[in-house]
Amino acid sequence: MAGRTRSPAGRWPSTTPATGEELCRVADASPADGRRAVEAAVAAQAGWAATPPRVRSEILRRAYDIIIARTEDLALLMTLEMGKPLAEARAEVAYAAEFFRWFSEEAVRIDGGMMTAPDGKNRLLVTRQPVGPCLLITPWNFPLAMGTRKIGPALAAGCTIVLKPAPQTPLASLALAEILTEAGLPAGVLNIVTTTEAAGVVEPLLRGGQIRKLSFTGSTQVGRILLAQCADTVIRTSMELGGNAPLIVFDDADLDTAVEGTMVAKMRNMGESCCAANRIFVHTSVAEEFASRLAARMAALKVGPGTEPGTDVGPLIDVAGRSKAHDLVRDAVKRGATVLTGGELPEGPGCFYPPTVLTDIAPESAIIDTEIFGPVAALRTFDDEDEAVAAANDTEFGLAAYLFTQNLDRAMRVAERLESGMIGLNTGLVSNPAAPFGGVKQSGLGREGGRVGIDEFLEYKYIAVPVG
Ligand code: ADP
Repeated sequence: MAGRTRSPAGRWPSTTPATGEELCRVADASPADGRRAVEAAVAAQAGWAATPPRVRSEILRRAYDIIIARTEDLALLMTLEMGKPLAEARAEVAYAAEFFRWFSEEAVRIDGGMMTAPDGKNRLLVTRQPVGPCLLITPWNFPLAMGTRKIGPALAAGCTIVLKPAPQTPLASLALAEILTEAGLPAGVLNIVTTTEAAGVVEPLLRGGQIRKLSFTGSTQVGRILLAQCADTVIRTSMELGGNAPLIVFDDADLDTAVEGTMVAKMRNMGESCCAANRIFVHTSVAEEFASRLAARMAALKVGPGTEPGTDVGPLIDVAGRSKAHDLVRDAVKRGATVLTGGELPEGPGCFYPPTVLTDIAPESAIIDTEIFGPVAALRTFDDEDEAVAAANDTEFGLAAYLFTQNLDRAMRVAERLESGMIGLNTGLVSNPAAPFGGVKQSGLGREGGRVGIDEFLEYKYIAVPVG
């Protein structure tokens, strides 16, 4: 931090979920270390805000180039610390880098305006300024991309940063800090706080009066706690929280497209994504065929360490993550669900879980209301459009939703009725750096990426100018 690496007294072992082996030891920051990071960010704020947008832009652009050049190293790092197969890790590197390129382009397009007041007397000048030092808290599922999606717009806007990565995946954020330093980022602008004491380190920072913005990605449960803490000092927030994405397959869908899209929506990142299809609704007339095709595809996936060539499905993040997925499967089966494939805990080391397809899910099953975060597809049926939309909206969440139909009228009608921030229409992938990512209802506040992503880190300032 502030251009130096501090070495707190504590260290914790970073492990790989494929075997449980230790990768390295990571500095375990204390609340005092957290405060020092904020002080560094505060000290650097004025200088960074005054740095010309073109200079900020070019630092981000250089960092993009470095990330792309180091794709293999960064992909391997993520596969080791988080478990995803190398092919997916490479895709994440490209996705992550793209946020730096996108926001390098946005840094030089921060605009304002001038208008004549309705009474004709004043000129109203509107300019935009960085909100100030930001605290960014990231999850473990996309260790690089969740970092760049927040760091990119914050730096582009002229904000300094304290970033607290998830304890499961600190290494990708540390690598990002090194890359940005190499790209020319001045000392103190980005400060990484790795810690196992999230609550103890973060709360005093939010209550300290110096952080002006929190951008958080994680569970709704933790998001609520942080929102309450931010309320006391009126900190602006962006919240990317949990999801419970519905995926609807209508009888007029192209089934090849629907199965392919469901594989992506369900299995990207082993299902460890807040956009993952959590509840799959299939029209009764195509349900059997869809289920058997999906089960065949799922059963054919190769489960194994992410570093092994040909692996489709890596280990889940930890034992707790795997137990959660398995408990949800067992609960559904106990209540009458049929297992078409998977559902058995494998022997041996590592947090592996087989791709699983369940049908005949009873309405009281926990899997219906719980974010699975694993490779488990839970299928239910419906008979008409209203029923499907009502069931899809029957959740406190509203992040992503997917629908498969070849009828354009229906596609637009249903897309507009779904209570969700993002819709995949005949596709299982909604993430795109150029699109506004975010949710409605208890899935969050604000948007990341796209034209609006930088707004989250800017304040308007209006100057009244009387003209005589
Ligand atoms: P998940 O269940 O996916 O791990 P969490 O919401 O628990 O999601 O974690 C997301 C991020 O929030 C991580 O960086 C984690 O360390 C951090 N975190 C968890 N609890 C707190 C807390 N009470 N205060 C601040 N940060 C927290």
